[in-house]
Amino acid sequence: MAGSGLKVIYVMGAGHIGSTVLDVAMSSHPRLESLGEVSKFHGFGWHLHENRHCACGTTVHDCPFWTAVRHRWSELTGSDDAARYMTLQPRHERTAAGWRRLVRNRFSRTPDFLEYQRGTEAIYRAVQEIGGSEYLVDSSLTPKRAYAQAMNPNIDLYLIHLVRDGRGVMWSLMKPNKKIPGRPYVPAPPKRTTKYWISANLQSAWVMRSVDEKKRLRIRYEDFALDPSRTLERIGTLIGEDMSGLVENGRLTTPSSTRHTVGGNRVRFIKDEDLQIRADFSWLDNLADEHRRLFWRRAGWLARRFGYLRDQRQYGSSPSEDRALLGSR
Ligand SMILES: [Zn+2]
Repeated sequence: MAGSGLKVIYVMGAGHIGSTVLDVAMSSHPRLESLGEVSKFHGFGWHLHENRHCACGTTVHDCPFWTAVRHRWSELTGSDDAARYMTLQPRHERTAAGWRRLVRNRFSRTPDFLEYQRGTEAIYRAVQEIGGSEYLVDSSLTPKRAYAQAMNPNIDLYLIHLVRDGRGVMWSLMKPNKKIPGRPYVPAPPKRTTKYWISANLQSAWVMRSVDEKKRLRIRYEDFALDPSRTLERIGTLIGEDMSGLVENGRLTTPSSTRHTVGGNRVRFIKDEDLQIRADFSWLDNLADEHRRLFWRRAGWLARRFGYLRDQRQYGSSPSEDRALLGSR
């Protein structure tokens, strides 16, 4: 049943790559609805002892939008058993055995996979019906989830692979002033971040091939941060919508009055009219030489393919960056 109108734009990649800001900027287009990290939604809002805040200001249990979505989800799946869906979801999206399970399902669908697929499709469908948007943006980031959606013939899927220089990701996870509410901040070990960056980007690059080349786009965080308008125009070209003029001087020109994102970082609580898109290249001044060398030794071969340089001093347009952009579709 291809072409049934369930258009999903899925953003994938490693974490700490600026996906929440991109998500918010995209949703300022009237035909796009951003949902944040939808993969975390059941755990944030439908599980008994979790009741996260929605970007609209209330909690998920009290938010009229998500209450209506949940009701519709139950009707569509014929069940109100969110806990059951929550046991199926990580098995296909998170666990080490997830890839094996997903690839096997390409050839022969198991009842568990079909149930997981129906449950996920029902969330998208319920949001589309309640919110009334043409496109849903799911910034769950995990490549396994993207791969599973690509296997659903009812979903018209667009894939965006968002890449950020791994040294920027490393610094973002090491910054001494970083605070997570309620938890003391422990800097992530650079080796682990490098391994994670390679793995997430290789998986994303591989999953990109599961949709037609006209329906996929690679974006670099640095290019988005320096010139958000140009990046949004490229996304507009991808989906066949005019997305020009959404950002001027780093600010949204047509702020949404209310968003209902539940996953993603604290940026989602900033009112659209107060959002300022800023480039964070602080690693260039702060990351220690030994950590730069470590990253390049292990991941330079992949970083180079995305247009990054070993001796990166700034971002803008270098010949290799231009090549990466030209080859990114
Ligand atoms: Zn809400």
